[in-house]
Amino acid sequence: MEMEMEKKRGHVLAVTFPSQGHITPIHQFCKRLYQKSFKTTLTLTTSIFNTIHIDPSSPVSIARISDGYDNSGFSSGGSVLDFLQNFKTFGSKSVADIIRKHQTSDDPITCIVYDSFLPWALDLAREFGLPAAAFFTHSCSVNYINYLFYKNQGSLKLPIQDLTFLELQDLPTFVTPDVSHLAYSEMVLQQFTNFDKADFILVNTFQELDLHEEMLLSKVCPVLTIGPTVPSMYLDQQIKSDNDYDLNLFDSKEAALCTTWLNTKPQGSVVYIAFGSMAQMSSVQMKELASAVTNFSFMWVVGASEEENLPLGFLETLDKDKGLVLKWSPQLQVLSNRAIGCFMTHCGWNSTIEALTLGVPMVFMPQWMDQPMNAKYIQDVWKVGVRVKAEKESGIAKREEIEFSIGSDGRREE
Ligand code: UDP
Repeated sequence: MEMEMEKKRGHVLAVTFPSQGHITPIHQFCKRLYQKSFKTTLTLTTSIFNTIHIDPSSPVSIARISDGYDNSGFSSGGSVLDFLQNFKTFGSKSVADIIRKHQTSDDPITCIVYDSFLPWALDLAREFGLPAAAFFTHSCSVNYINYLFYKNQGSLKLPIQDLTFLELQDLPTFVTPDVSHLAYSEMVLQQFTNFDKADFILVNTFQELDLHEEMLLSKVCPVLTIGPTVPSMYLDQQIKSDNDYDLNLFDSKEAALCTTWLNTKPQGSVVYIAFGSMAQMSSVQMKELASAVTNFSFMWVVGASEEENLPLGFLETLDKDKGLVLKWSPQLQVLSNRAIGCFMTHCGWNSTIEALTLGVPMVFMPQWMDQPMNAKYIQDVWKVGVRVKAEKESGIAKREEIEFSIGSDGRREE
């Protein structure tokens, strides 16, 4: 209440990219700014706004914008390049409307923070004479490699100077010559078209983790590391109200059940398996994973679109005391529960930062995007996880390998 009455130092408009892994860190950053006496408004596309679950206690205001897909949202079947073009056309118009609407109010927008996938927001900020910072949701190392790829006009030569330990399979898939990811490469390249004109480049990482890579990136742009964006109560415990992300794209009807279930399990005994918000594991891989994890106590997040890839009868015959399968979990709560022994992850950057923050060892199966590079750092630089070896030809991780990797993760001791 006191904060509301206090004179605000400014009004930050945060323009987000519509996916869980992008919205969460910027929203968390806004909460921190609010604590520093800034008013903060977060934009959400209409389709996300219509489905997202937001805790009303979040101090961040929400403003709706259009990405041109208001009714259905962008579906993965559509063209990513069309989506980006439409987002630019419709998004810049709606963001401009928000800025204009506030111009004559008590709380005019004084600064824009925008997701680095939306470089048009910087041009817009300049049109209105506003300072602007790009928010990069990947690690400094991934951003640096992506930048080199951009600078060298879409090619990279190994070894990479200053990061000679990186091999081809460690690089983000955006920069490897895999045709299926061309549109995503374009999205990544676009980040750098005007990034040197931004007032700051904010990166969701922290210096102790990414110091060398931050130095490399700092040579080409004004970097500020602002992470980890995990809620305060899991970190410095300075902001009592910041104990959750407060914002979920997916409903978790079973969320309350998680803690109750975990509390019946001994310390360090449960394998938590979750591959982020975009997981699409093949039925062959799901079968191997299913037969491996049934040898442990486990909690497995299987999204609605993946459920059909589970082995036939798996859910029906599952011993519910031994294994819990759910569509979406309260991941921070789960990872911080003492029953969790290890986290089987795809190495999404948010999941990686959460596991690092909460001290949970990782067993990992990276898929694409920045995940292979995060995996390389988890295993060889920070040494806090074990990679499940996949077969060279098929790319499938077999049951025995998964079991072996879980068994060798160095569980937390009593
Ligand atoms: N997450 C969650 N419940 C789940 C799965 C994921 O709350 O069942 C959250 C997780 O805590 C993280 C985000 O979703 O903050 C996923 O982001 P990440 O960068 O790890 O992966 P992405 O979804 O971008 O692939």
